[in-house]
Amino acid sequence: MKYDILINKNNKIPKDLKFDITEIYTKYNPHKKFYLEKKAYKHFLKLKKEALKLGYDIEIESSFRTHDYQKKLFEELVESKGYEYSIKYIAKPYTSEHETGLAIDICVFKDNEYVIEHDLESLDEIKWLHKNAYKYGFILRYPKDKIDITGYNYEPWHFRYVGKKLAKYLYINNLTLEEYHMNKK
Ligand SMILES: [Zn+2]
Repeated sequence: MKYDILINKNNKIPKDLKFDITEIYTKYNPHKKFYLEKKAYKHFLKLKKEALKLGYDIEIESSFRTHDYQKKLFEELVESKGYEYSIKYIAKPYTSEHETGLAIDICVFKDNEYVIEHDLESLDEIKWLHKNAYKYGFILRYPKDKIDITGYNYEPWHFRYVGKKLAKYLYINNLTLEEYHMNKK
């Protein structure tokens, strides 16, 4: 797998893409099976360890999704909210990074509860992650100031593994994966 692969509404996951997926443990939900791409998981564990040294307890809230599961999520939302609404909030099957195993949604364990999604925005844990995740090969995939480029609303919790070298390059130059691929052409 190429770790710089661009997946978005216009760039579907190739049908023949092979995932090197491994079962992972997250205390966010110890009774459910979670999976992630092997290298992404290895580096997440290092990131988590580093965060813990500062007292920041981060966990994985959502990781790999099968195409069928992504389809189910999308169809359920269409059923209740309609197509126009759904298309803005959930990726169609084969267009979600979660289907590659390279994306994680982070949650933070704080004051005996899990903080997720937009409630994370103001936490020191998340501010630290946004500044340091690149050292472990992760990028904040949908930043606030790049909505027009990514086509996604700000998601302070969604990180994408791209490998250390590329993550550093994107972080330092304030680039999204979309911009990186545009420049490459
Ligand atoms: Zn996500």
